[in-house]
Amino acid sequence: MARKCKYCYTKANDNDTLCSICKIDINKDKKELTKEEKKLWYCCRTLSLIGFLAALGGLIGVVGAIVASVGLAGDGKNSLIIVIINLILGIAFFIFGISLSRYKQWCYYGGIVLYSLSIILCIVSFNIIAALFSGLFLYYVASKTSKNILYRQL
Ligand SMILES: [Zn+2]
Repeated sequence: MARKCKYCYTKANDNDTLCSICKIDINKDKKELTKEEKKLWYCCRTLSLIGFLAALGGLIGVVGAIVASVGLAGDGKNSLIIVIINLILGIAFFIFGISLSRYKQWCYYGGIVLYSLSIILCIVSFNIIAALFSGLFLYYVASKTSKNILYRQL
């Protein structure tokens, strides 16, 4: 079985104990981490959680859009546009979520665009709680630590 880094959950390098993503020694005990390493660990956990939620939310959005489109037959043009927007956003969030859990570089600006768009759409549709969550996710994805991890600038 391939070894995994216990701090960022990515596949560990076979001939190097230093993780290529979070730059923490995978043999290092959690108690021995420096303050800076703990910050990276926390950020990696948050990013992978956001990635998981984004993929799940995207999937729910796609299913919801398909279900809505079935009940849409004969309905107005406006609702069809909303279904299409939901479908596209759902697919985008699903791909983003999977990529973020792999710490892909494009997820930094991709996440900023997607969550900003999501905030605007939530505010327009008066979904304030969802807007607040999108804002929170945006705050984490757009953080400096997150950029350093995604751009491998540690
Ligand atoms: Zn790691």
